[in-house]
Amino acid sequence: MKFNTKVIHGNQEHDPSTGAVMPPIYQTSTYAQSTPGAHKGYEYSRTGNPTRTALENAMASIENGNYGLGFASGLSAIDAIIKLLKPGDEVISTNDLYGGTFRLFTQVFRAYGIKFHFVGMDQEGEIEKKINPNTKLIWLETPTNPMLNIIDIKSCSEISKKHNLLLVVDNTFATPYLQRPLDLGADIVMHSATKYLGGHSDVVMGTLVVNDKELAEKLYFLQNASGAVCGPMDSFLVLRGIKTLHVRMQRHCENGRAVAEYLRNHEKIGRVYWPGFKDHPNHEIAASQMNDFGGMVSFSIKGDDQKDAIKVLENLKIFTLAESLGGVESLSGHPASMTHSSIPKEERQKTGVIDSLIRLSVGIEDKEDLLSDLEQALTLV
Ligand SMILES: *Cc1c(COP(=O)(O)O)cnc(C)c1O
Repeated sequence: MKFNTKVIHGNQEHDPSTGAVMPPIYQTSTYAQSTPGAHKGYEYSRTGNPTRTALENAMASIENGNYGLGFASGLSAIDAIIKLLKPGDEVISTNDLYGGTFRLFTQVFRAYGIKFHFVGMDQEGEIEKKINPNTKLIWLETPTNPMLNIIDIKSCSEISKKHNLLLVVDNTFATPYLQRPLDLGADIVMHSATKYLGGHSDVVMGTLVVNDKELAEKLYFLQNASGAVCGPMDSFLVLRGIKTLHVRMQRHCENGRAVAEYLRNHEKIGRVYWPGFKDHPNHEIAASQMNDFGGMVSFSIKGDDQKDAIKVLENLKIFTLAESLGGVESLSGHPASMTHSSIPKEERQKTGVIDSLIRLSVGIEDKEDLLSDLEQALTLV
């Protein structure tokens, strides 16, 4: 089955009791048993719920994996992964990481004795410098947020296999439409389904997909034992979102390209970050591991004055100034004071998150309207 068919039919079946084409929202906490232990596969909805199962199966299908898991948020999915580790274990991660992931690693799990190293993973050799006998896991995000750096998943998977480490890829920005990390050798693919998978800015959810049975069992254990599961309504919404992922992503990519090219030719703009540019430092890797370049574009304003960035953000009319990304509507953000405010300024600036940096999640509106919105806001600075 090809991807565009999988998003609609992959691992899906019509509801066995009624033939309903979409799985019902099984809004129940528990399930009747005829005699103790005799049930139809479901006992309690933290452990399993048929709407969640449908979503988990769809996720496994579109990521080309064997097992899918649904969580209450992207961060709770990350939380489950790090709970595979024990005190003394070490993690090597990208340095321009999603702010919430950085906060979870450094302000929660560090206190449990897990050590995190943050390195520029797009630089050759940086990962191996940090590997020692305690290293257990490599964590990467690609494209990164908000600098749109690209990390070579295949070469990371070679390193992780050589040293017997788990490789986790946060695939939130790319989605399986653009990039399938398990095919490139990752052990776990993680999503904030809040973003492109849900796609309509109406749900918070996280998912994991893995191939290995033993790893899946450990994660199912943690999903149930810690209990940060997604509810049936949320599962339904993300499942519905997935069914149009391919058409939405196609338009996100098309509009993203138009916005990146427009900004690059604008005299008020400092730099534009978008992996589709031929002179993007990791363009070749992006072109080899992704099908297209996505709808995320970041840029700075000439002179790097935070006041200019704020003025643009306040005056955009179609782009809504808001946290989050990946919905049908275009959003704008100021990483330094919003998504990345939990990262110390010094650390943030080292990775390029300067004060005039603006991040756009380019939506699927008419691209001419998006360009004229940017034009009118940029004339004010
Ligand atoms: C939003 C996001 C997360 C966190 O997911 P939530 O659903 O907000 O908990 C993790 N990684 C990336 C790249 C994200 O954009």
